[in-house]
Amino acid sequence: MAFDVVVVGSANLDLVATTARMPGPGETVLGSGFSQHPGGKGLNQAVAAARSGATTALIAAIGDDDAGTLLRSVAEHEGIDTSQMTSVADIPTGRAVIIVDDRAENSIVVIPGANGRSRFESLPADVASSTVVLAQLEVPLATVTNAFTAARAAGCRTVLNPAPAPDGGLPAELLALCDVIVPNEHEVDVLGGVDRLLASGVGTVIVTRGAAGVSVSEQSGGTPWAIDAFDVSPIDTTGAGDSFCGALATQLATRADLRHAVGYAAAAGALATTVAGAVPSIPHAAAVDALMAA
Ligand code: ADP
Repeated sequence: MAFDVVVVGSANLDLVATTARMPGPGETVLGSGFSQHPGGKGLNQAVAAARSGATTALIAAIGDDDAGTLLRSVAEHEGIDTSQMTSVADIPTGRAVIIVDDRAENSIVVIPGANGRSRFESLPADVASSTVVLAQLEVPLATVTNAFTAARAAGCRTVLNPAPAPDGGLPAELLALCDVIVPNEHEVDVLGGVDRLLASGVGTVIVTRGAAGVSVSEQSGGTPWAIDAFDVSPIDTTGAGDSFCGALATQLATRADLRHAVGYAAAAGALATTVAGAVPSIPHAAAVDALMAA
C-alpha cells in the first residue's frame, strides 16, 4: 500500500506550567499545575493527516530519551509509519517550555534539540504519484529542500506550510519546488505577499485567515477565490493551522478537486478550535464529514 501523505517535520514534547501570574526576570512563583503534551508542527500535521484518513509516514528526528520514546509511541498509536523517525544520540528531543497565566497569556521557549539535526535521507519506498509530501519550517531548510527535490523526482506533490516564516523570506530554489504553499496571514506578509510567491514558481497559494476563512490563488491563472470560515464557537485556536494542513494534504492525495480539499481543511481547522490543546483537538474524518454535511 502506498503512502498518501509523507510529513517531513518536527516533533516536540510541550511542557506546560500554569501559574496565577507570570514570573518576572529573577523571580520565582509557585505554579498551580503541570502537564506535558506531544507537539511540534510535523507530528501535529502527521496526526491530522492520519485522522483524516491518510496512510501517513513521519520523517523526523528525536533524541535517544524518554521524550523521544513517548513521541514515537504517540505517532504509532495514530497508525503513523515511524520507520524514518530517527533517534539522535547526543542531543535531546525538541521541547517547548510554556508558561500560562490566569489571563491565558503565555510565554514560550522552544528548544529545537534533535529537530535541528533532522536530515532527509530518502522517501519511504511506498510512495506513488498521488503521494503528498508535506513539510513545515521547524527543521533545517536544507532538509525540506532535499525532501521536495526527491518528491518532485518521484512525481509526488509538495505542500509547504511555511511556519515559522523566516525574516527575509525563503530561497527561490525552495519556492520553485512548492506545488502548494499554505501560509497564514502573518506568514504571507513575511514572505512578500501572494503575487511574489506565484512569481517564484509556487503553483497554488492558500492563505489561512483564522475566523476570516481562506483565500486561494493559482499559478494557472483565473481569479483568486475565497471561502468563509465555518461558524463554530472557538475555545482554543491551538492546532487549527496544523489540522488544516494535515487535512488538506490528505484531500489532495485522495481527491482532485481543490475547492473540496480547501473546504474540508477549513472544516478540520474550525473543529480544532472547539477543543483545548493541539493533538487532542485534531479532528477525525467522521467529525469533519459531519460538519461539511451540516
Ligand atoms: P494558524 O493557526 O496557522 O495561524 P489559522 O488561524 O489561519 O492558522 O487557522 C487555520 C484555519 O482554521 C483557518 O483558515 C480556518 O479555516 C480555521 N479556523 C481558525 N480559526 C477559526 C475560527 N475562529 N472559526 C472558524 N474556523 C477557524
